[in-house]
Amino acid sequence: MKCLVCGSEMVKKKIPVDLRIGDKLLVVEQVPATVCDHCGEKVFAPTIARKLQALGKQRSKAQRTLRVPVFSMDNVFP
Ligand SMILES: [Zn+2]
Repeated sequence: MKCLVCGSEMVKKKIPVDLRIGDKLLVVEQVPATVCDHCGEKVFAPTIARKLQALGKQRSKAQRTLRVPVFSMDNVFP
């Protein structure tokens, strides 16, 4: 499969995905995706995309919780 953005060959990988659902930030590891090593474009199969969206309602199944630093661009680079 060729990348729609840059035309490079894409490869199938399992990657970590961070996604926002509403105001919640979730990280999902080992997600099957087709990835362009050249520009970083990611493509998910429709079934995988649906599963990712469904995870927002399944927070109790999370393996662990990460602490994430939050920056405001205006405060860091005034
Ligand atoms: Zn690309």
